[in-house]
Amino acid sequence: MNELSPALPAPALSATSNVSAAKPTQEEAEEAIRTLIRLAGDDPTREGLRDTPSRVFRSYQEMFAGYATDPVALLERTFEEVEGYDEIVLLRDIRIESHCEHHMVPIIGRAHIAYVPRNRVVGISKLARVADAYARRLQIQERLTVQIAETIDQVLKPQGVAVVIEAGHQCMSTRGVHKSGVSMVTSRMTGCFRDNATTRRELLSLIANRAPGALEG
Ligand SMILES: [Zn+2]
Repeated sequence: MNELSPALPAPALSATSNVSAAKPTQEEAEEAIRTLIRLAGDDPTREGLRDTPSRVFRSYQEMFAGYATDPVALLERTFEEVEGYDEIVLLRDIRIESHCEHHMVPIIGRAHIAYVPRNRVVGISKLARVADAYARRLQIQERLTVQIAETIDQVLKPQGVAVVIEAGHQCMSTRGVHKSGVSMVTSRMTGCFRDNATTRRELLSLIANRAPGALEG
């Protein structure tokens, strides 16, 4: 059981919570999708839509795979030979694909994850996988940011962790106020990133000084 920030609601924290016990069967899920097709005003039996429920079922399994992943376990294999490295390790521009829990539409953006090691480091791809494990759930960006930071803090016990996420919310761009090109930025800093203005400034300039075109793709 992860003990992350106590301020966070419990269901979001457990990697494999007992919600899975209440999971509908594929058949029940496909029936629900046919209901939504009818709600949209179309006919789920017409040819183009006939296989849509099973496709949506499969994409749900992919988009929400994070519920079956334990982010703490992902980080547990760490390396202790840091050879005295005690500067910032930054993984920049990690693509984030999540879904807003209020409207169930995509949140697309990028995360920058940094830490200053104390005794141990972790393979950098693991940081991206932790981000994925939390992103592939129904989320709000604020909680996603905190969960990534707290998990790294808890397992690696570094001198500090910083997570910055910039993302666009389709619930704002394709519905509601219909404002596109707007991004929301959230951050969570712990330890030296929170307490030391120089370290924080160094991080922010590392994030800002990316190569042109590095964001694309
Ligand atoms: Zn929303």
